[in-house]
Amino acid sequence: MKVLKFGGTSVGSIDSLRNVKAIVESQQTECIVTVSALGGITDCLMDCARRASVGDNTYMELHRAMKERHHSVIDGVVTDASRHAEVTEKVDSLLQQLSTLFDAIALLGELTQRTMDLIVSYGERMSCVIVCNMLSDAALCYSPDFIRTRFRFGKHVLAPEATSKLIAQIVAPKLKTHRTIVVPGFIARDEDSGKITNLGRGGSDYTAAIIAAEFSAEILEIWTDVDGFMTADPRIVKNAVVIDRMSFVEAMELCNFGAKVVYSPTIYPVFNHNIPIVIKNTFNAQAPGTIIADGEVFATRMAGLTSMTPTAIIRITGCRPVNFDRVFNSLSRNGVDIFMASPEHGTFGLRGSDVESAMAILSDELADELTTGEIENIQPITGLSTIALVGSALDSMTDVDKVLINVLNGCGIPVPAPPRMNSSTTVACMVPEQSLHEALRAVHSTFFPSCTPIS
Ligand code: ADP
Ligand code: ASP
Ligand code: MG
Repeated sequence: MKVLKFGGTSVGSIDSLRNVKAIVESQQTECIVTVSALGGITDCLMDCARRASVGDNTYMELHRAMKERHHSVIDGVVTDASRHAEVTEKVDSLLQQLSTLFDAIALLGELTQRTMDLIVSYGERMSCVIVCNMLSDAALCYSPDFIRTRFRFGKHVLAPEATSKLIAQIVAPKLKTHRTIVVPGFIARDEDSGKITNLGRGGSDYTAAIIAAEFSAEILEIWTDVDGFMTADPRIVKNAVVIDRMSFVEAMELCNFGAKVVYSPTIYPVFNHNIPIVIKNTFNAQAPGTIIADGEVFATRMAGLTSMTPTAIIRITGCRPVNFDRVFNSLSRNGVDIFMASPEHGTFGLRGSDVESAMAILSDELADELTTGEIENIQPITGLSTIALVGSALDSMTDVDKVLINVLNGCGIPVPAPPRMNSSTTVACMVPEQSLHEALRAVHSTFFPSCTPIS
């Protein structure tokens, strides 16, 4: 049994959906097919909701354009007449609900997180109906019926026990009667309130991995719009090349440090069950793609380079060493992830979007020390990007930090947070946000010298 996941671009147009149909229908074994919303639709839904909430009526035009796009895709791929009518009716009913929701948001002038979670679910709810009916003999399993989340640290996280039980009850029996099952990615339901939630942006990859782990699938295939996991983001580093194989650990590190091609929580469930992941191109199915599997054989090589932006540093200064265990615990309890911790310098790194809440948490947690003067200052340094170089080879390399600094300084790029080994396979440092692209290109050409330079 295989799990195949098709991302937004793969299900975004008539031509790409035809490729999806050919790929799925050529499979020789049972498949669970997880689909994203049509490319760009999740952003569009969020945009409509925000416009409606501030009384900007142009949300109606966006809604009309979404309707036209879905209709045109249905016309292009659902060829059977009775199915065409049925799919159009289902999608129209979902679009009508959306229209009512947007009007209600406009009337109330208010948009809560719960309403936004409901709104963004519609992208996958529409796409799964289209994909399921485009395929010759597929059944639909609606993921909010079996993917459960709970609210922890300010976000929805998987509720594994409930999910596992429901997959066995709901999905497993369907797989006995159908060779292909279509599942909307990303969307879920809160285990207590029963409200619609999701697994976070890019979460369809994670839906597929959860299901693959539950069935001990032979493989998880992630079908996207590039030939595989590349040595760097191909939109920035034009001569990045496809990595043929990498270890789970390398993939986890690259994804944790921002490689967008796979949503980072995806790796854990399949890694645990030792299920290989293959990244493949829907638009070039013949290309071998990237295999992510067990890793020792790759010990002598650099895997890739990635980045996160915006990021920041928080520096805590005081007359006595700061108790960083307390600092890190208070942040993680409140959903703030940290990386590149340097307790000896009183600094740590975090996402730019977390700076405001981290400052509030720390001012509260360290209020007494700030009053007594034990801690002088908690200072954020923003406007930075983090770059991370990942590869099992780093484990046996010396002076990587010096090489990195020399390369960056050689291009006139200051390094406000010097390189730090984040693990035995990852070294990370921060550079000014405006120098990110130049930094990535320079570091890539140093550590991946065999990639052909682009003039
Ligand atoms: P999907 O909609 O299929 O989930 P995403 O947009 O989430 O696709 O991820 C694929 C995109 O990730 C690619 O189009 C590419 O621009 C970008 N990307 C960023 N870093 C990498 C990388 N290291 N390797 C490949 N693609 C990358
Ligand atoms: N549609 C969702 C998003 O755009 C989930 C996904 O595509 O994986 O984030
Ligand atoms: Mg994605």
